[in-house]
Amino acid sequence: MDDDLDAAKLAIHAALGDIGFERDFTRRAKCLYTGVLDKAGLAVPVSIEVTDFDFLEYPEIRIAPQYVLPDRKLPHILGIEQSVCYYARGTVVLDRYNPAGTVLQCLKKCEEVIRDAVRGRLNDDFADEFGSFWSSVNSLADLPGEADGVGSVKYIRLGPGKEPVPVLAKDESWLWSRDPANGGKGQGEPAFIVRTNAALSINPNAKWPPGNVTELDRWLTWNDPTLGGKMQVALAKGGGDVGVLAVKASNGLFLCRAVVPVPYRTKEILENRRGNMAKNLTRIGSKISVERISSAPVDSSYVFGRNLHGSSNLADKRILLIGCGTIGGFLAQQLAQCGAGAGKGELTLVDPDSLYPANLGRHLLGAPYLYDNKARACAEFIGSQLPPLNIRAVPDYVERVGIFSDRHDIVIDATGEEALSIALNHRAVRERPASPPIMFVWLEGNGAVAKSLLTGQPTHACLKCLKPKLAAAARHRTLKSEESIVIERNAACGDGAYVPFPVSRSVGAAAMACDHVLDWVNGVHGDRLRSRTFDNAKAYIVPDSSPKPSTDCPACGKSHA
Ligand SMILES: [Zn+2]
Repeated sequence: MDDDLDAAKLAIHAALGDIGFERDFTRRAKCLYTGVLDKAGLAVPVSIEVTDFDFLEYPEIRIAPQYVLPDRKLPHILGIEQSVCYYARGTVVLDRYNPAGTVLQCLKKCEEVIRDAVRGRLNDDFADEFGSFWSSVNSLADLPGEADGVGSVKYIRLGPGKEPVPVLAKDESWLWSRDPANGGKGQGEPAFIVRTNAALSINPNAKWPPGNVTELDRWLTWNDPTLGGKMQVALAKGGGDVGVLAVKASNGLFLCRAVVPVPYRTKEILENRRGNMAKNLTRIGSKISVERISSAPVDSSYVFGRNLHGSSNLADKRILLIGCGTIGGFLAQQLAQCGAGAGKGELTLVDPDSLYPANLGRHLLGAPYLYDNKARACAEFIGSQLPPLNIRAVPDYVERVGIFSDRHDIVIDATGEEALSIALNHRAVRERPASPPIMFVWLEGNGAVAKSLLTGQPTHACLKCLKPKLAAAARHRTLKSEESIVIERNAACGDGAYVPFPVSRSVGAAAMACDHVLDWVNGVHGDRLRSRTFDNAKAYIVPDSSPKPSTDCPACGKSHA
């Protein structure tokens, strides 16, 4: 390791020496060099320090303090240390096996950034990285897309013992309701939400950051003239003492919080007759300091849509999930994270069983839910993690639940119990075309392979078509040997018979089924029978397909005879 490090340092030393950089020996412990960038043009003296020879942290490049920068804000040049942001963190993978080349690459990129910034070419980049200039104080925003006007910021504890976090919303918020002590009616601070099509940015020729209402006003007007005076309006709407202005711009949501100092909270100033309070506040604007707060969205359309690249999520669908065991528990969570139960939708979880210690090693839930019904516990746990979802728990046997009398858009059987699945399949086939499509998901051969099958179309196989004779081999054989399945009974631990496989296999099966459901909701009629092989010693890799019905299927065969 040390040899590697020494070799890297020597290579960097040689490469930097070649371009005229010198080691700063006054700080011997550091790998710090000084030199000049853009020699033929701006001749900018810089220092470069390599702190991480894996290059997870990019080398720190700073413009020397003696260099006189133009008297305006420059994009990508941060703080009094004049540190240059030449690559946004995490955007490039630097080559730790070529330290000399990597350091030269960074200097070259840095040279371009400085040249463009000094010549004023990159002012638009302020808008892109504006969030990092704005504030390091975080808040959450639970706002529907088109929300504007009056709202509130409430200070919510997201969990026991946690520090309160500001949460902006209009009339109600799922996060407000999580903390009744701080999220109730009349709590928090008044907010005023305004929208602009502009991207907020830094005025390179004005003081940054705006520290009081007067400076803020000037800066807001520079961004978009219609934003002028809005901080005062926000204060006036809230009665004058304190107010939050939330600006929804094309590059994010930015909050400004102003508190009128106590000596100015006089009747003369805070009187709102004929709407003159805003004018009074403008007059004393330089006395009212402004705090800047960053904001991230937590509304359900953002949470449930962000990761799906524009395709549909599961909101507004009525989904029935049978079985909340090792596959069903993880699947319930994944479906919920894709929006199942959001909007007008409903996610119904059915399971008669309770969570036992034997389940802990491969179930979504842990010790706090021991001896609770799995359907109820999954609904409670998942509901507590996400924006509001309509999750209904049915702690009963599915045979007693009218699954075909209620209208569901899709039924998912994740019980992995073959007899139950065959019975469900039989009923669904018999009640066609009224019955909803059923997706079956299960594991075979001690979790060697996961399978899912979407049924419902008479032109395609039902579950029973895959294995018309119970004792015979399946039509689409995946397991190399049916005899290799191990069933364990761990009497000393009080376990009944069970099929051992690690949690990874259940999560894999759940993930495959979740993808299958997302394809279904997006009308992607890909392969109806899918398999994922986890253990190549026990199972073949079988291509996905859409098998036709089997003529000797006892469930659906007669109609095709
Ligand atoms: Zn069939």
